[in-house]
Amino acid sequence: MPRRDAAAAVFVARDDVRGSLARLRLLIGACAVIVVVADEPLSADDVDALFESGADDVAASLQPDDLALALRRAVRLALERTTRPADGADLAAQRGFVQASIDNLPSPIFFTGSDGRYVGCNKAFERLIGRPSAQIVGATVYDIQPMNLARIYEQADQILLRTGGTQVYETRVRFADGSLRDVCIHKSAVAGPDGAPSGIAGALLDVTEYKRLEFRLKDAADRDPLTQAFNRRKFMELAAALERSVQETRQPLSVLVMDLDHFKSINDAYGHAAGDIVLCGFVDVLRSEIGKDNMFARAGGEEFYALCPGSTVEAAAAIAERLRAKFEALGFAWEGTTIKATASFGAAELRVGNETILQAVSRADRALYQSKRAGRNKVHVASAASAGDGPHLSTHGASTDTL
Ligand code: GH3
Ligand code: MG
Ligand code: MG
Repeated sequence: MPRRDAAAAVFVARDDVRGSLARLRLLIGACAVIVVVADEPLSADDVDALFESGADDVAASLQPDDLALALRRAVRLALERTTRPADGADLAAQRGFVQASIDNLPSPIFFTGSDGRYVGCNKAFERLIGRPSAQIVGATVYDIQPMNLARIYEQADQILLRTGGTQVYETRVRFADGSLRDVCIHKSAVAGPDGAPSGIAGALLDVTEYKRLEFRLKDAADRDPLTQAFNRRKFMELAAALERSVQETRQPLSVLVMDLDHFKSINDAYGHAAGDIVLCGFVDVLRSEIGKDNMFARAGGEEFYALCPGSTVEAAAAIAERLRAKFEALGFAWEGTTIKATASFGAAELRVGNETILQAVSRADRALYQSKRAGRNKVHVASAASAGDGPHLSTHGASTDTL
């Protein structure tokens, strides 16, 4: 193949010299020689910055003598580079292999120089940003990311360039296709010839599916598989957190204990599967009626607990009454017949600072027992007077009982 030599002049704006040099290098390859000719005097720092950004030579002025000298040096350098074709070819081949390898990886990969400008990336990074590499190389993170994110990335990069080593962190990134993904970013400082960090190589691992799975596993561990209500363990966890917060806020907190009535006879009469449907029906009522600030859990069998932060015992009893009436009104279709069921309730307000939530639950349990004794399908409230007191009020029909 005949050798082709060419020279070309490219005019670039002063404020984009660095980005332009990076893009030009990508376009013309490693063997070509870039000479920067400035149309006004340059400081020593300017000249250093130009060399750092990839210039091979800098003509100090537009004077013919200076230009001629710079061009002679450029021709010699070009000759040197092209008379060592093996080195250049090896380098280009190596670059090609590396680029092809990273282009085949699904994880976005990028490289930045010490000035924060992108010097290279793979196809997955192009897809993430939604631009071809020719528009990414030479740009800064501010050109391709929203301002708030760019600032975070830039600060993290500056720390990495100062300290060297590696950085791993998780964040959420919006891809160019609009999808929001959880990613784990792995970055490492790249050492320059003097050993000091001269750039950063970064890769983004998409961990969205792992995160989803992790959430699903955690959530499944918190729930009862039949009704999908929270389980007793989760109830204890939420109760402990609420107990701490009411100590500070001194807001009221009430608990409900609920139990399905004569549930064993429903199982006996219609079978366990029918009993399961009734249980799920009770949980549906809880879900729709408990209120957005309150939570409930299946404590075991056909017994449920609820936590009502901010509710006095009277307010909690009103919630329980609503639950009771709704559940009583339901009918469950089963093999050509309709199953009717009811539930009994006990409510207690936490004596903030004087008892634990478990002690309040135990008082509510005694109030529930009163509802059962009074004929079931009732709500009873535990007295607030002292720990030994029994339930004192029924909001539904039954007379006030004390133990
Ligand atoms: P009471 O009104 O006094 O509460 O009477 P009860 O029959 O509801 O109470 P008991 O404790 O005697 O019976 C509870 C029954 O609940 C016994 C048990 O087989 C049934 N049970 C517990 N868990 C489940 C479940 O997941 N599915 C079904 N179908 N039954 C269950
Ligand atoms: Mg029962
Ligand atoms: Mg029970």
